[in-house]
Amino acid sequence: MTAAIAQVEPLTLTRALRGPFDYRLGQEMQASVGVGSLLLVPFGRQELMGVVVGLSECSEVPDAKLLAPHRAIALQVPAELVELARWLAREYCSTPARALSLMLPPGTNTQSARPRVRLMAELTPAGLALLRAPAQGQDGDRRLPGVLTRAAAGETPLSARQLRLLAGLVDGPVVAGDMPGGPAALRRLATRGLVRVEGRELGRRPVHKAVGSRSREPLPLTADQQAALQALSEALAAPQGRQILLHGVTGSGKTELYLRAAAEALARGRGVIVLVPEIALTPQMVGRFAERLGDTVAVLHSRLSLGERYDEWRRLRAGDARVCVGPRSAVFAPVSDLGLIVVDEEHESSYKHEGDPRYDARAVAAERARSAGALLLLGTATPRAETYHTATRVRLPQRVNGGPLPEVRVLDMRGLAPGLHPQTMHALANVRHAHEKAIVLLNRRGWSAFLTCRECGRVWGCPNCDVALVLHRGAEHMSCHHCGHRQAVPERCNCGSASLARHGMGTERLEGDLKEVLGGDGFPIFRLDGDVAFSGATDGDQRASAISVLQSFERAPAGVLLGTQMVAKGHDFPGVTLGVVLDADATLAFPDFRAEERTFALIAQLAGRVGRGGNGNVLVQTLAPEARAIRYGARHDSDGFLAGEIERRRLLSYPPFSHLIRVTCSARAGAQAGAAASNLGARVRADSNDASTSVLGPAVLFRLRGLHRRALLIKTQDRTGTVARLRDAVAAAASAREHSGVNFSVDVDPH
Ligand code: ADP
Ligand code: ZN
Ligand code: ZN
Repeated sequence: MTAAIAQVEPLTLTRALRGPFDYRLGQEMQASVGVGSLLLVPFGRQELMGVVVGLSECSEVPDAKLLAPHRAIALQVPAELVELARWLAREYCSTPARALSLMLPPGTNTQSARPRVRLMAELTPAGLALLRAPAQGQDGDRRLPGVLTRAAAGETPLSARQLRLLAGLVDGPVVAGDMPGGPAALRRLATRGLVRVEGRELGRRPVHKAVGSRSREPLPLTADQQAALQALSEALAAPQGRQILLHGVTGSGKTELYLRAAAEALARGRGVIVLVPEIALTPQMVGRFAERLGDTVAVLHSRLSLGERYDEWRRLRAGDARVCVGPRSAVFAPVSDLGLIVVDEEHESSYKHEGDPRYDARAVAAERARSAGALLLLGTATPRAETYHTATRVRLPQRVNGGPLPEVRVLDMRGLAPGLHPQTMHALANVRHAHEKAIVLLNRRGWSAFLTCRECGRVWGCPNCDVALVLHRGAEHMSCHHCGHRQAVPERCNCGSASLARHGMGTERLEGDLKEVLGGDGFPIFRLDGDVAFSGATDGDQRASAISVLQSFERAPAGVLLGTQMVAKGHDFPGVTLGVVLDADATLAFPDFRAEERTFALIAQLAGRVGRGGNGNVLVQTLAPEARAIRYGARHDSDGFLAGEIERRRLLSYPPFSHLIRVTCSARAGAQAGAAASNLGARVRADSNDASTSVLGPAVLFRLRGLHRRALLIKTQDRTGTVARLRDAVAAAASAREHSGVNFSVDVDPH
């Protein structure tokens, strides 16, 4: 006799637990449980939820020592996602449990994760026939008047009230509780066989709510789009997964190609995932997919209610929806037989997840596409060097409307006072005069204001993090952008001095200057402080307010939109004729191998928001007018920029020519963090037997949330091997008594 055993990975966040664990399946469970099934299992003295990651048969009846699961949850994670979770845990140095928890239906084990069932009433064929039968002397009047005539004529035994009730169902099922008399009255009709009353599931449908049921015809393609579509079609028809970079300038009509490619994948019976960087800021994308492709489009993102997400997940899981649009987490959508994954604005850093596992949705998408034989379509005007280097390139070199990209002028700020360049002032004044729109971008948090003492030089810093506190609007309080600490602005310093200085030119200060120059009637200034709204502690209200600022700017006939990076992200506002970058070189100062790429993208993306209506120009203020990223950015020359950038990466052995892994050790005491990092670094150096792996550090990072941090940076060609060895090294270090109290975090492909 054989017995079935399930290998179950309990979903717990403790790293120490090494699953999976075996459970014995009884007869009924054997029939229903498969890889991906969710089970509630006894574990020690608790009950845990776990995912079945494997099944085996046992020729011996397993002895009673093997426990049986308490029960199965009706939902099942697709087996291919269980496989993906294994890969994810391996690749990002995480645990299977943490990786699996990304694959679960939203809100699993909460109240919302239940189908919403309503008692619905509907006419039976007999009820319909009764309603439609003509009254004597009347032919074919099918609705209420006929029924009432018959009731008046006493032709049925039914009361007029009951007939009205029946008539109320003539257009289709109705929630029983909404009918006069409620379920009780309907049940009486049900006993006569005229009505059916039953519990039925009502899907919660966010897309439907947003779009209604409009449909929109495909746009006739431009010649460039036509040629690009040809390449996409061939790739969609290929049996092996392919990667295509859709490298199209801003406004070149990339979305239309995503739509066409999606329609083609659907026509081939394959499913589609569309990833967008920040769904709340790009509601148009969901709208356009839903308009074109209809009910088959589902959307998954955190601004939906849990119930909505849960229902959308199940619609996808059941195959009732075949297209999922969402932010990075949508890469785990349960879409079967994937044919296409689209990653829009592939250069965006929001595709990197900062929690554990620190996955990169683009890399996960590549792995999913590879294993499903799907096409990975990465679209952007400013590709990352990695993508440019590895994917097949398909170009859209022109804007759809044939209009030119805006002219970009670089303004040398060396020797000038910080602030607006005279040409910038002039151009803004012209925009105002012509009653047009401008976008002004500040490129760093460094513009934010902080407080010092004029006497002793004290800088007010965060008590938990080694950074200055930032002064805010109205300036009654100061706050930390990293941990959220807040405190009142003091009146005097500890040294006794009351002479306190406010430094830095925050967006607020600039807003003041602009108001002075431009302010007045009918020319509003909209301020969007993206760094605040989107810093680690993102909160829904701030996000909502960011969206409403963008909407106000869009609706206003004229005005200035002022803010950090976020003002340059994929919005399509007509009527913007001027773009200004105030300190284009600020990103270059960051100790980050992506600094060049980011600076180039910033200029090109801002230019992309400008002149969509036909005319426009861009001014770039900088202290480094000769920097490559700025020179090429001003020429819209991404090929020229990337050719040089890829050479630079090759020389320095940065991605795509190596993989980076950052390990951060943090502890309450700096010495502890330092010792852990040094020991770990030594072990990794000793472990890596190939010349292609190098370990830099430990480097001191600023104290964050009360924790001192030391970081190692590992550069390697052998990613899989290094991650595997690193996992062991970290496990050993984490369990060593001398390092108790030290937290280790591994970031593969850090940003
Ligand atoms: P991108 O994503 O490349 O910046 P979009 O996809 O937002 O560009 O397209 C820019 C504009 O051009 C949109 O308003 C879109 O509706 C329009 N568009 C795209 N393709 C066509 C086409 N073939 N004919 C007419 N308009 C188009
Ligand atoms: Zn002082
Ligand atoms: Zn802080």
